[in-house]
Amino acid sequence: MDWTGLGDEAIDLLRRYLMIDTTNPPGAEIAGARFLADVLAREGLASEIVESAPGRANLVARLAGDGALGGVVLHHHIDVVYADRRYWTVDPFGGEIRDGFLYGRGALDMKSTGILQLVALLALKRARVPLKRDLIFLATADEEAGSAYGARFVADRHRDWLAGAEYAISELGAIVTPPGARAPFASIVISEKTALAVRLTARGAPGHASMPWPDTAPHRLVRALGRLLDAERPTRVLPEVQEYFARMAQILPPVEAAGLDDLDRSLRDAAFRARFFTNRHHAALVRTSFALTMLQGSEKSNVIPPEASAIFDCRMLPGDDPDEILGWIRGVIGDDQVEVALESTPKVPNLSPPDSELYKAMAAVLRRRAPDAVVVPELLVAFTDNWVFRRCGLHGYGFGPFVLDDGEFRRIHGNDERISLENVRAGVRSYVELLRAVAGA
Ligand SMILES: [Zn+2]
Repeated sequence: MDWTGLGDEAIDLLRRYLMIDTTNPPGAEIAGARFLADVLAREGLASEIVESAPGRANLVARLAGDGALGGVVLHHHIDVVYADRRYWTVDPFGGEIRDGFLYGRGALDMKSTGILQLVALLALKRARVPLKRDLIFLATADEEAGSAYGARFVADRHRDWLAGAEYAISELGAIVTPPGARAPFASIVISEKTALAVRLTARGAPGHASMPWPDTAPHRLVRALGRLLDAERPTRVLPEVQEYFARMAQILPPVEAAGLDDLDRSLRDAAFRARFFTNRHHAALVRTSFALTMLQGSEKSNVIPPEASAIFDCRMLPGDDPDEILGWIRGVIGDDQVEVALESTPKVPNLSPPDSELYKAMAAVLRRRAPDAVVVPELLVAFTDNWVFRRCGLHGYGFGPFVLDDGEFRRIHGNDERISLENVRAGVRSYVELLRAVAGA
Protein backbone atom coordinates (compact mmCIF):
# COMPACT_ATOMS: atom_id res chain seq x y z
CA MET A 1 0.00 0.00 0.00
CA ASP A 2 1.12 3.56 -0.73
CA TRP A 3 0.69 4.85 2.83
CA THR A 4 1.92 8.36 2.02
CA GLY A 5 -0.52 8.70 -0.87
CA LEU A 6 -3.43 7.38 1.21
CA GLY A 7 -2.49 9.71 4.07
CA ASP A 8 -2.45 12.73 1.73
CA GLU A 9 -5.79 11.69 0.30
CA ALA A 10 -7.34 11.30 3.77
CA ILE A 11 -6.09 14.73 4.88
CA ASP A 12 -7.47 16.37 1.76
CA LEU A 13 -10.86 14.65 2.06
CA LEU A 14 -11.12 15.42 5.77
CA ARG A 15 -10.29 19.06 5.14
CA ARG A 16 -13.08 19.34 2.62
CA TYR A 17 -15.52 17.38 4.80
CA LEU A 18 -14.80 19.67 7.78
CA MET A 19 -15.59 22.71 5.64
CA ILE A 20 -19.18 21.51 5.24
CA ASP A 21 -21.16 22.98 8.14
CA THR A 22 -23.32 20.21 9.60
CA THR A 23 -24.00 21.84 12.96
CA ASN A 24 -26.91 20.08 14.67
CA PRO A 25 -29.40 21.67 15.02
CA PRO A 26 -30.32 22.00 12.21
CA GLY A 27 -27.88 19.28 11.04
CA ALA A 28 -28.40 19.74 7.30
CA GLU A 29 -26.44 16.52 6.84
CA ILE A 30 -27.52 16.28 3.20
CA ALA A 31 -24.50 18.36 2.10
CA GLY A 32 -22.13 15.99 3.89
CA ALA A 33 -23.90 12.94 2.48
CA ARG A 34 -23.65 14.30 -1.09
CA PHE A 35 -19.94 14.94 -0.59
CA LEU A 36 -19.42 11.31 0.51
CA ALA A 37 -21.59 10.01 -2.33
CA ASP A 38 -19.45 11.91 -4.88
CA VAL A 39 -16.24 10.42 -3.51
CA LEU A 40 -17.74 6.92 -3.64
CA ALA A 41 -19.14 7.44 -7.14
CA ARG A 42 -15.74 8.47 -8.51
CA GLU A 43 -14.47 5.05 -7.42
CA GLY A 44 -17.41 3.23 -8.97
CA LEU A 45 -19.17 2.55 -5.67
CA ALA A 46 -22.91 3.15 -5.66
CA SER A 47 -24.44 4.65 -2.55
CA GLU A 48 -27.97 5.37 -1.41
CA ILE A 49 -29.06 8.53 0.41
CA VAL A 50 -32.32 8.62 2.35
CA GLU A 51 -33.65 11.70 4.07
CA SER A 52 -35.45 11.09 7.35
CA ALA A 53 -36.72 14.70 7.19
CA PRO A 54 -35.88 17.47 4.71
CA GLY A 55 -32.10 17.92 4.81
CA ARG A 56 -31.54 15.17 7.39
CA ALA A 57 -29.66 12.60 5.33
CA ASN A 58 -28.32 9.11 5.91
CA LEU A 59 -26.06 7.34 3.42
CA VAL A 60 -25.12 3.71 2.85
CA ALA A 61 -22.71 1.96 0.47
CA ARG A 62 -21.63 -1.65 0.41
CA LEU A 63 -18.39 -3.24 -0.76
CA ALA A 64 -19.37 -6.87 -1.23
CA GLY A 65 -17.35 -9.79 0.06
CA ASP A 66 -17.94 -13.47 -0.71
CA GLY A 67 -20.47 -13.76 2.11
CA ALA A 68 -18.49 -16.43 4.01
CA LEU A 69 -18.80 -14.41 7.22
CA GLY A 70 -21.00 -11.61 8.58
CA GLY A 71 -20.50 -8.06 7.39
CA VAL A 72 -18.84 -5.13 9.15
CA VAL A 73 -20.71 -1.82 9.42
CA LEU A 74 -18.35 1.17 9.41
CA HIS A 75 -20.51 3.96 10.74
CA HIS A 76 -20.05 7.57 11.67
CA HIS A 77 -22.31 10.55 12.24
CA ILE A 78 -22.25 13.44 9.78
CA ASP A 79 -23.54 16.04 12.24
CA VAL A 80 -21.40 18.03 14.65
CA VAL A 81 -22.15 20.13 17.71
CA TYR A 82 -22.31 23.91 17.74
CA ALA A 83 -19.01 25.83 17.66
CA ASP A 84 -18.90 29.22 19.39
CA ARG A 85 -16.70 31.23 17.04
CA ARG A 86 -15.92 33.81 19.73
CA TYR A 87 -13.75 31.27 21.51
CA TRP A 88 -12.05 29.70 18.51
CA THR A 89 -8.73 31.02 17.17
CA VAL A 90 -9.57 29.66 13.68
CA ASP A 91 -12.72 29.37 11.60
CA PRO A 92 -14.37 26.14 12.83
CA PHE A 93 -15.42 25.41 9.24
CA GLY A 94 -12.33 26.82 7.52
CA GLY A 95 -10.35 23.58 7.15
CA GLU A 96 -7.21 25.30 8.41
CA ILE A 97 -3.94 23.38 8.83
CA ARG A 98 -1.49 24.87 11.33
CA ASP A 99 1.61 23.41 13.01
CA GLY A 100 0.81 19.86 11.99
CA PHE A 101 -2.84 19.95 13.02
CA LEU A 102 -6.03 20.12 10.98
CA TYR A 103 -8.61 22.29 12.76
CA GLY A 104 -12.37 22.13 12.57
CA ARG A 105 -15.56 21.18 14.35
CA GLY A 106 -15.77 17.42 13.86
CA ALA A 107 -11.99 16.90 13.56
CA LEU A 108 -12.22 14.31 16.34
CA ASP A 109 -15.98 13.96 16.80
CA MET A 110 -16.18 12.39 14.34
CA LYS A 111 -15.69 13.28 10.68
CA SER A 112 -12.10 12.03 10.94
CA THR A 113 -13.25 8.49 11.70
CA GLY A 114 -15.71 8.66 8.81
CA ILE A 115 -12.92 9.64 6.42
CA LEU A 116 -10.56 6.93 7.70
CA GLN A 117 -13.31 4.36 7.15
CA LEU A 118 -13.99 5.73 3.67
CA VAL A 119 -10.34 5.84 2.57
CA ALA A 120 -9.65 2.35 3.97
CA LEU A 121 -12.65 1.00 2.05
CA LEU A 122 -11.45 2.63 -1.17
CA ALA A 123 -7.90 1.34 -0.63
CA LEU A 124 -9.15 -2.24 -0.31
CA LYS A 125 -11.34 -1.86 -3.38
CA ARG A 126 -8.52 -0.44 -5.51
CA ALA A 127 -6.14 -3.19 -4.38
CA ARG A 128 -8.86 -5.77 -5.16
CA VAL A 129 -8.36 -7.40 -1.77
CA PRO A 130 -10.64 -10.48 -1.68
CA LEU A 131 -13.14 -10.11 1.18
CA LYS A 132 -14.89 -12.76 3.27
CA ARG A 133 -17.17 -10.11 4.83
CA ASP A 134 -19.19 -7.28 3.26
CA LEU A 135 -17.98 -3.84 4.32
CA ILE A 136 -20.93 -1.50 4.84
CA PHE A 137 -20.14 2.20 4.92
CA LEU A 138 -22.88 4.03 6.83
CA ALA A 139 -23.09 7.76 7.53
CA THR A 140 -25.90 8.91 9.79
CA ALA A 141 -27.58 12.15 10.84
CA ASP A 142 -28.45 13.50 14.26
CA GLU A 143 -26.21 11.57 16.67
CA GLU A 144 -25.55 14.74 18.64
CA ALA A 145 -29.25 15.29 19.32
CA GLY A 146 -30.53 11.79 20.08
CA SER A 147 -30.29 9.98 16.69
CA ALA A 148 -34.02 10.07 15.90
CA TYR A 149 -33.26 11.25 12.34
CA GLY A 150 -30.16 9.07 12.06
CA ALA A 151 -29.24 5.72 13.60
CA ARG A 152 -32.69 5.11 15.08
CA PHE A 153 -34.34 5.97 11.76
CA VAL A 154 -32.01 3.55 9.97
CA ALA A 155 -32.64 0.81 12.55
CA ASP A 156 -36.43 1.23 12.34
CA ARG A 157 -36.96 1.97 8.66
CA HIS A 158 -33.92 0.71 6.77
CA ARG A 159 -32.87 -2.38 8.67
CA ASP A 160 -32.05 -3.91 5.25
CA TRP A 161 -29.00 -1.60 5.16
CA LEU A 162 -27.55 -3.76 7.94
CA ALA A 163 -28.48 -7.09 6.29
CA GLY A 164 -25.94 -9.83 6.93
CA ALA A 165 -23.86 -7.71 9.28
CA GLU A 166 -22.22 -9.10 12.41
CA TYR A 167 -20.12 -6.16 13.60
CA ALA A 168 -20.28 -2.37 13.83
CA ILE A 169 -17.33 -0.04 14.32
CA SER A 170 -17.71 3.59 15.31
CA GLU A 171 -16.41 6.43 17.41
CA LEU A 172 -14.36 6.93 20.56
CA GLY A 173 -11.76 4.71 22.05
CA ALA A 174 -8.26 6.24 21.86
CA ILE A 175 -4.66 5.85 22.94
CA VAL A 176 -3.94 8.09 25.91
CA THR A 177 -1.22 8.28 28.53
CA PRO A 178 -2.75 9.24 31.88
CA PRO A 179 -0.67 11.66 34.00
CA GLY A 180 2.13 9.78 35.77
CA ALA A 181 1.50 6.53 33.87
CA ARG A 182 4.35 4.32 32.63
CA ALA A 183 2.71 3.44 29.31
CA PRO A 184 -0.22 4.47 27.12
CA PHE A 185 -3.68 3.14 27.67
CA ALA A 186 -5.56 2.11 24.51
CA SER A 187 -9.29 1.72 24.97
CA ILE A 188 -11.87 -0.07 22.85
CA VAL A 189 -15.43 0.91 23.69
CA ILE A 190 -17.65 -2.13 24.29
CA SER A 191 -20.61 -0.58 26.08
CA GLU A 192 -22.30 2.61 27.13
CA LYS A 193 -24.34 3.70 30.10
CA THR A 194 -27.75 4.95 29.08
CA ALA A 195 -29.96 7.67 30.48
CA LEU A 196 -33.17 7.12 32.41
CA ALA A 197 -35.07 10.32 33.15
CA VAL A 198 -37.04 9.95 36.39
CA ARG A 199 -39.61 12.50 37.56
CA LEU A 200 -40.53 12.97 41.20
CA THR A 201 -43.82 14.81 41.75
CA ALA A 202 -45.17 15.96 45.10
CA ARG A 203 -48.79 17.13 45.35
CA GLY A 204 -50.66 18.96 48.09
CA ALA A 205 -53.17 21.71 48.82
CA PRO A 206 -52.25 25.10 47.34
CA GLY A 207 -52.37 28.23 49.44
CA HIS A 208 -51.10 31.69 50.21
CA ALA A 209 -47.38 31.93 50.93
CA SER A 210 -48.03 34.17 53.94
CA MET A 211 -49.22 31.18 56.00
CA PRO A 212 -47.10 28.13 55.11
CA TRP A 213 -47.34 24.68 56.70
CA PRO A 214 -44.86 21.78 56.76
CA ASP A 215 -46.41 19.54 54.12
CA THR A 216 -46.74 21.80 51.09
CA ALA A 217 -45.90 20.13 47.80
CA PRO A 218 -42.52 21.91 47.44
CA HIS A 219 -41.56 21.10 51.03
CA ARG A 220 -42.36 17.41 50.59
CA LEU A 221 -40.44 17.34 47.33
CA VAL A 222 -37.33 18.93 48.81
CA ARG A 223 -37.29 16.46 51.72
CA ALA A 224 -37.64 13.57 49.27
CA LEU A 225 -34.79 14.94 47.13
CA GLY A 226 -32.60 15.35 50.19
CA ARG A 227 -33.12 11.71 51.18
CA LEU A 228 -32.32 10.54 47.66
CA LEU A 229 -29.15 12.65 47.40
CA ASP A 230 -27.95 11.37 50.79
CA ALA A 231 -28.61 7.72 49.91
CA GLU A 232 -25.74 5.54 48.77
CA ARG A 233 -26.67 3.48 45.77
CA PRO A 234 -24.82 0.15 46.10
CA THR A 235 -21.84 -0.23 43.78
CA ARG A 236 -21.76 -2.94 41.13
CA VAL A 237 -18.48 -3.79 39.43
CA LEU A 238 -19.03 -5.42 36.04
CA PRO A 239 -16.31 -7.94 35.05
CA GLU A 240 -15.40 -5.72 32.07
CA VAL A 241 -15.06 -2.69 34.34
CA GLN A 242 -12.90 -4.68 36.73
CA GLU A 243 -10.67 -5.61 33.80
CA TYR A 244 -10.42 -1.93 32.81
CA PHE A 245 -9.17 -0.97 36.27
CA ALA A 246 -6.88 -4.00 36.64
CA ARG A 247 -5.16 -3.10 33.36
CA MET A 248 -4.97 0.54 34.37
CA ALA A 249 -3.24 -0.56 37.60
CA GLN A 250 -0.46 -2.04 35.44
CA ILE A 251 0.59 1.37 34.15
CA LEU A 252 -0.09 3.64 37.15
CA PRO A 253 2.37 4.47 39.95
CA PRO A 254 1.97 1.95 42.84
CA VAL A 255 0.22 4.41 45.18
CA GLU A 256 -2.50 5.12 42.65
CA ALA A 257 -2.75 1.51 41.50
CA ALA A 258 -3.31 0.09 44.99
CA GLY A 259 -6.67 -1.61 45.33
CA LEU A 260 -7.71 -1.34 41.67
CA ASP A 261 -7.08 -5.03 41.00
CA ASP A 262 -9.99 -6.10 43.24
CA LEU A 263 -12.53 -3.30 43.31
CA ASP A 264 -15.34 -5.24 44.95
CA ARG A 265 -13.15 -5.83 47.97
CA SER A 266 -11.44 -2.42 47.94
CA LEU A 267 -14.74 -0.53 47.77
CA ARG A 268 -15.70 -2.03 51.12
CA ASP A 269 -12.87 -0.02 52.64
CA ALA A 270 -14.13 3.45 53.58
CA ALA A 271 -10.86 5.28 52.89
CA PHE A 272 -10.41 3.66 49.48
CA ARG A 273 -14.05 4.29 48.65
CA ALA A 274 -13.81 7.98 49.50
CA ARG A 275 -10.64 8.38 47.44
CA PHE A 276 -12.02 6.39 44.48
CA PHE A 277 -15.23 8.43 44.36
CA THR A 278 -13.39 11.75 44.14
CA ASN A 279 -12.79 10.80 40.50
CA ARG A 280 -16.24 11.42 38.98
CA HIS A 281 -15.51 9.30 35.95
CA HIS A 282 -14.43 6.32 38.03
CA ALA A 283 -17.41 6.73 40.34
CA ALA A 284 -19.77 6.64 37.35
CA LEU A 285 -18.27 3.34 36.15
CA VAL A 286 -19.28 1.35 39.23
CA ARG A 287 -22.78 2.53 40.01
CA THR A 288 -26.02 3.91 38.71
CA SER A 289 -25.71 7.69 38.96
CA PHE A 290 -28.37 10.25 39.84
CA ALA A 291 -27.99 13.84 38.66
CA LEU A 292 -30.70 16.29 39.65
CA THR A 293 -31.17 18.44 36.55
CA MET A 294 -34.66 20.01 36.50
CA LEU A 295 -36.78 21.57 39.22
CA GLN A 296 -40.24 23.05 39.00
CA GLY A 297 -42.48 24.70 41.62
CA SER A 298 -44.75 27.69 41.69
CA GLU A 299 -44.92 30.28 38.97
CA LYS A 300 -45.33 33.08 41.52
CA SER A 301 -43.31 33.78 44.62
CA ASN A 302 -46.40 34.28 46.81
CA VAL A 303 -48.33 31.17 45.74
CA ILE A 304 -47.81 27.76 47.30
CA PRO A 305 -48.37 25.50 44.26
CA PRO A 306 -50.43 22.31 44.28
CA GLU A 307 -47.59 20.48 42.58
CA ALA A 308 -43.79 20.51 42.62
CA SER A 309 -41.57 18.26 40.55
CA ALA A 310 -37.97 17.40 39.84
CA ILE A 311 -36.24 15.33 37.19
CA PHE A 312 -33.19 13.17 37.74
CA ASP A 313 -30.96 12.13 34.86
CA CYS A 314 -30.13 8.68 36.06
CA ARG A 315 -27.46 6.71 34.16
CA MET A 316 -27.77 2.95 34.08
CA LEU A 317 -25.07 0.30 33.86
CA PRO A 318 -25.58 -2.76 31.68
CA GLY A 319 -27.70 -5.16 33.72
CA ASP A 320 -29.58 -2.40 35.56
CA ASP A 321 -33.34 -2.81 35.61
CA PRO A 322 -35.42 0.40 35.36
CA ASP A 323 -38.17 -1.07 37.57
CA GLU A 324 -35.66 -2.01 40.26
CA ILE A 325 -34.25 1.54 40.17
CA LEU A 326 -37.73 3.09 40.53
CA GLY A 327 -38.44 0.73 43.44
CA TRP A 328 -35.13 1.66 45.09
CA ILE A 329 -35.93 5.38 44.77
CA ARG A 330 -39.40 4.87 46.28
CA GLY A 331 -37.88 2.95 49.17
CA VAL A 332 -35.25 5.63 49.83
CA ILE A 333 -37.63 8.59 49.80
CA GLY A 334 -40.26 6.69 51.83
CA ASP A 335 -43.15 9.05 51.04
CA ASP A 336 -46.07 7.65 49.10
CA GLN A 337 -47.35 11.15 48.41
CA VAL A 338 -44.37 11.71 46.14
CA GLU A 339 -44.95 10.04 42.82
CA VAL A 340 -41.91 8.46 41.11
CA ALA A 341 -42.31 7.87 37.38
CA LEU A 342 -40.30 7.51 34.18
CA GLU A 343 -40.25 10.55 31.89
CA SER A 344 -39.68 8.46 28.76
CA THR A 345 -39.21 4.89 27.57
CA PRO A 346 -36.01 3.56 29.09
CA LYS A 347 -33.01 2.71 26.90
CA VAL A 348 -31.73 -0.54 28.26
CA PRO A 349 -27.91 -0.54 28.20
CA ASN A 350 -26.13 -3.21 26.15
CA LEU A 351 -22.63 -4.58 25.87
CA SER A 352 -20.49 -6.34 23.26
CA PRO A 353 -17.93 -9.02 24.18
CA PRO A 354 -14.27 -8.09 24.64
CA ASP A 355 -13.10 -11.36 23.08
CA SER A 356 -14.69 -11.42 19.61
CA GLU A 357 -12.58 -11.79 16.47
CA LEU A 358 -13.05 -8.10 15.71
CA TYR A 359 -12.10 -7.04 19.24
CA LYS A 360 -8.90 -9.08 19.04
CA ALA A 361 -8.05 -7.60 15.64
CA MET A 362 -8.62 -4.05 16.96
CA ALA A 363 -6.40 -4.77 19.97
CA ALA A 364 -3.61 -6.03 17.69
CA VAL A 365 -3.85 -2.91 15.50
CA LEU A 366 -3.73 -0.59 18.53
CA ARG A 367 -0.62 -2.41 19.80
CA ARG A 368 1.05 -1.84 16.43
CA ARG A 369 0.11 1.82 16.55
CA ALA A 370 1.51 2.20 20.11
CA PRO A 371 3.71 -0.85 20.82
CA ASP A 372 3.88 -0.49 24.61
CA ALA A 373 0.16 0.30 25.02
CA VAL A 374 -2.06 -1.64 27.37
CA VAL A 375 -5.34 -2.38 25.56
CA VAL A 376 -8.54 -2.27 27.62
CA PRO A 377 -12.29 -2.68 27.11
CA GLU A 378 -14.07 0.53 28.04
CA LEU A 379 -17.59 1.26 29.19
CA LEU A 380 -18.51 4.79 28.11
CA VAL A 381 -20.41 6.86 30.63
CA ALA A 382 -22.08 8.75 27.75
CA PHE A 383 -23.67 6.99 24.79
CA THR A 384 -23.24 6.81 21.02
CA ASP A 385 -25.02 5.30 18.01
CA ASN A 386 -23.43 1.95 18.80
CA TRP A 387 -26.14 1.49 21.41
CA VAL A 388 -28.72 1.48 18.60
CA PHE A 389 -26.84 -1.00 16.41
CA ARG A 390 -26.16 -3.38 19.30
CA ARG A 391 -29.91 -3.50 19.75
CA CYS A 392 -30.14 -4.65 16.12
CA GLY A 393 -28.06 -7.69 17.06
CA LEU A 394 -24.62 -6.43 16.03
CA HIS A 395 -21.49 -6.43 18.18
CA GLY A 396 -20.67 -2.72 18.24
CA TYR A 397 -17.35 -1.18 19.23
CA GLY A 398 -15.78 2.24 19.51
CA PHE A 399 -12.34 2.17 17.89
CA GLY A 400 -10.00 5.15 17.64
CA PRO A 401 -6.41 4.59 16.50
CA PHE A 402 -5.56 8.13 17.64
CA VAL A 403 -2.76 8.99 20.06
CA LEU A 404 -4.20 11.85 22.14
CA ASP A 405 -3.37 13.72 25.29
CA ASP A 406 -5.85 15.16 27.78
CA GLY A 407 -5.74 18.59 26.14
CA GLU A 408 -6.84 17.20 22.77
CA PHE A 409 -9.76 15.44 24.42
CA ARG A 410 -11.04 18.63 26.01
CA ARG A 411 -11.40 20.17 22.55
CA ILE A 412 -14.15 17.66 21.71
CA HIS A 413 -17.40 19.70 21.97
CA GLY A 414 -15.01 22.51 23.12
CA ASN A 415 -12.90 25.13 21.38
CA ASP A 416 -10.29 24.69 18.63
CA GLU A 417 -11.10 21.03 18.01
CA ARG A 418 -8.33 19.53 15.87
CA ILE A 419 -6.55 16.35 14.84
CA SER A 420 -2.84 15.92 14.16
CA LEU A 421 -1.93 15.06 10.57
CA GLU A 422 0.13 12.23 12.04
CA ASN A 423 -3.03 10.74 13.58
CA VAL A 424 -4.80 10.94 10.22
CA ARG A 425 -1.91 9.26 8.37
CA ALA A 426 -1.36 6.55 10.96
CA GLY A 427 -5.12 6.17 11.37
CA VAL A 428 -5.62 5.29 7.69
CA ARG A 429 -2.98 2.61 7.99
CA SER A 430 -4.55 1.25 11.18
CA TYR A 431 -7.98 1.10 9.55
CA VAL A 432 -6.67 -0.64 6.41
CA GLU A 433 -4.79 -3.17 8.56
CA LEU A 434 -7.85 -3.76 10.71
CA LEU A 435 -10.19 -4.36 7.77
CA ARG A 436 -7.67 -6.58 6.04
CA ALA A 437 -7.25 -8.65 9.21
CA VAL A 438 -10.92 -9.06 9.96
CA ALA A 439 -12.47 -9.08 6.47
CA GLY A 440 -9.64 -10.15 4.15
CA ALA A 441 -10.18 -13.63 2.71
ZN1 LIG B 1 -19.61 11.73 18.17
